[in-house]
Amino acid sequence: MDKRPASHWRGTQGNKGAGRPRDAYRILAAVTLSGVIFAIDSLTSLRSAVAVLYVVVIVLAADVGKRSSIIIASAGCAALTIGSYAYVHGLDGEDQALLRFLFSLAANAVITVLLLRRRSDLQMVEAQARLLEVTSDAIFVRDAEGRIIFWNTGAETLFGWPAEEALGLKAEEILDVTFPASRSKAEAELDERGQWEGECRIRARDGRHVDVSTRWFAEQGLRDYSRVVLEASVDITARKASEAALKASETRYRTIFETLAVAILEHDFSAVKADLTALRQQGIGNLRRYLAEHPEFVRAAREKVRITDVNPAAAKMVGATSKSEFFERLDDFLSDDNRSFANCLIALDEGQPFYQAEAVVRSLDGGTVPVIVLLTFPRGEEGFDRVLGSIVDISERLRFQEALDASRSELENASRAAMIGEISASIAHEVNQPLAAIMTFVQAAQRWLNREDPDLDEAKFALNEAVNATEHASAVVRRVRMLLGKAKSQDSEVAFDDVINDAVRAKESELSDNDVAVKLDLKTDGIQINGDRILLQQAFMNIIVNAIQAMEATPADRRSLTISASADGSALCVRFSDSGPGLSEGTSAEGLFKAFQTTKPNGMGLGLAMCRSIATAHNGKISIGNRDDGPGAVIELRLPHTQTRSAEAGPDAGKQ
Ligand code: ADP
Repeated sequence: MDKRPASHWRGTQGNKGAGRPRDAYRILAAVTLSGVIFAIDSLTSLRSAVAVLYVVVIVLAADVGKRSSIIIASAGCAALTIGSYAYVHGLDGEDQALLRFLFSLAANAVITVLLLRRRSDLQMVEAQARLLEVTSDAIFVRDAEGRIIFWNTGAETLFGWPAEEALGLKAEEILDVTFPASRSKAEAELDERGQWEGECRIRARDGRHVDVSTRWFAEQGLRDYSRVVLEASVDITARKASEAALKASETRYRTIFETLAVAILEHDFSAVKADLTALRQQGIGNLRRYLAEHPEFVRAAREKVRITDVNPAAAKMVGATSKSEFFERLDDFLSDDNRSFANCLIALDEGQPFYQAEAVVRSLDGGTVPVIVLLTFPRGEEGFDRVLGSIVDISERLRFQEALDASRSELENASRAAMIGEISASIAHEVNQPLAAIMTFVQAAQRWLNREDPDLDEAKFALNEAVNATEHASAVVRRVRMLLGKAKSQDSEVAFDDVINDAVRAKESELSDNDVAVKLDLKTDGIQINGDRILLQQAFMNIIVNAIQAMEATPADRRSLTISASADGSALCVRFSDSGPGLSEGTSAEGLFKAFQTTKPNGMGLGLAMCRSIATAHNGKISIGNRDDGPGAVIELRLPHTQTRSAEAGPDAGKQ
């Protein structure tokens, strides 16, 4: 049997057209009934208030649904009542008849008022029902038996069931709902509190699953007085999917965080970010200068950064057995000075995505660990409460580097010693031969002259040979000097800028280890030298090392080496100006270029001699002196250049 209700809210509008013939029947019935009542009232001698039956006519007219039909029916019935009374009783009706007449009119008036009020109530309910209809939420109403008596467009869209099919069916038959707990628990709560809410998964008609946030409200029914339940559901499928994606990505992140061998820390920089923003609002333009002048700001900022989480690798690095033992504040964790942290604040303020630096951090046993830190800053204004930092322990690398440096300097010393040995042996060997020859020839000359009959020709010959041997000896000495300068052997066209840059690069780590700030001011782009690249590089490196050593006693923040180079038509001039003590008074600048001239306890005194040999071998000149613009020494090298790479210079430009 079809148990669908004959009418329902959704159907009211749809039945409007179909209701017209039925309205016509109602009107016909009302008119006929009023005629019958009028006839009985006027033509019979029944002594009762027959006219009260007119209320049935008014009720019939009210069913048409129009306000005017109630008013017309009510007025018509009143007129018929009055007409009938006048016809039967005239003007002098007995008291009882008058009473019945008035009673009928009163009944007419009361029913009219009630029907008009009911009609406006119904209109309001219908307006509310229409509101439910247009909302995008899926709303349906089920009666006490669970049959659907209202089903809005939102429910049609979300669950895929058209209202025509859903109405009258049981909600739980057409909707396969997965409850957070169970349906019976939800129903029990509805019984108890009159409402229930929760997140459910519903299988729509086409089999797709939709996640919904649902609310149930129990209400008294409109037509009968049994309970109805309104179910309102909001589609949260997309929200659920993005929540699930977020959760998956958080889980992935957590897995990486917890298992990566690299130490990772989460910091809360939000207070520091707020302080920096406040500084900007106060009109501080040059943050770098402000931080240099206000170290207390940097220290306070350091104290405000909290370490909110660390991974097991980070805990292990500081010797902690669990995360909870880790330092809570960055200030406690960092052991070195504020310089690198000030740079970190500048990077953060400038909105840079990363900040990388070398730093020294503390371990729990009171020791320190040299590390490379990489902080990743969020873009925009949000997320500074979760700034990620990865830390790599570089103690091994530094140990390796130190060992490498030590062995390199040992090797350099050894090769210097070997070189000296070689030079000494070569001098001894080369000079010994001519000396022995001189001795032999001079003794021979003596013998020829000491004869009773001196042989002057033989003596002359021997002395000539002695002179030759002497010349040979001085040639040997010249060769040895050439050897010191490694006489130019690999001559070719070399780009001056490349040579100087290579030399600086080779000494880069020594320069930075000694906090020497290097400034290169080269106006020699394209300038070429005809010479030995290795020897020239060796000379520049010697000068750089001398400058580093000279500045050892200079405060670290004032150590600087400026290398400036320029060229004129024929020669280039390169100047190395340091900020060391310069040459002490009375020092002979020329003397420093002599071999074995040194003022250092472990010096060899060969560096500048070698530089001069190399300069001379390249037809150049070298000089040393004190700077005239402040403390420090300046070494100037003038070298002839051949041609430039640029088109302006001709092929022979500057050739000497
Ligand atoms: P070494 O470096 O072994 O002493 P060098 O021939 O390179 O030998 O240097 C000779 C001397 O010249 C040094 O001992 C030092 O007194 C002086 N000298 C060289 N360069 C500088 C410099 N930049 N500033 C001051 N003195 C220097």
